[in-house]
Amino acid sequence: MAVKERMDYIKKQLHSQSYKLTPQREATVEVLLENEEDHLSAEDVYLLVKDKAPEIGLATVYRTLELLNELEIVDKINFGDGVSRYDLRKEGANHSHHHLVCIQCGDVSEIEEDLLGEVEVKVEREWQFKIKDHRLTFHGVCSKCQREKDSTNEEVGRQTVDQL
Ligand SMILES: [Zn+2]
Ligand SMILES: [Zn+2]
Ligand SMILES: [Zn+2]
Repeated sequence: MAVKERMDYIKKQLHSQSYKLTPQREATVEVLLENEEDHLSAEDVYLLVKDKAPEIGLATVYRTLELLNELEIVDKINFGDGVSRYDLRKEGANHSHHHLVCIQCGDVSEIEEDLLGEVEVKVEREWQFKIKDHRLTFHGVCSKCQREKDSTNEEVGRQTVDQL
């Protein structure tokens, strides 16, 4: 969906909770929409927003991100490196999507399919716990890094043969 349409949708979400889409908030949302794959930290967002709205301060960007998080427009996630990142929730999604984080190149990919429906039912039943949401991050080696490792091994193999 186009940035403009998604912006309108987010504007409606803000309005329905009696918040306005001020120019600073709009610039912040725009940066999130334009860099959706990047899982930006508050500082990353701030640096990009500054190009659009030079007068904006880090505190304003931070407050906006926290507000968007409260309204469940963005999810605040942490991949274990101590940095909070802000991730737009897909339109109509009622939970945050899942992530695959490569421990070698740092690449992050997303899984939108929920996968955990049955797990939630089990947890709710056995722990009498009412689940509102969950986070799921897999840490491992991405397909690209696996391929590179394979070709390095082949290289090493060939060199060994040459030496013989
Ligand atoms: Zn994500
Ligand atoms: Zn990788
Ligand atoms: Zn899920």
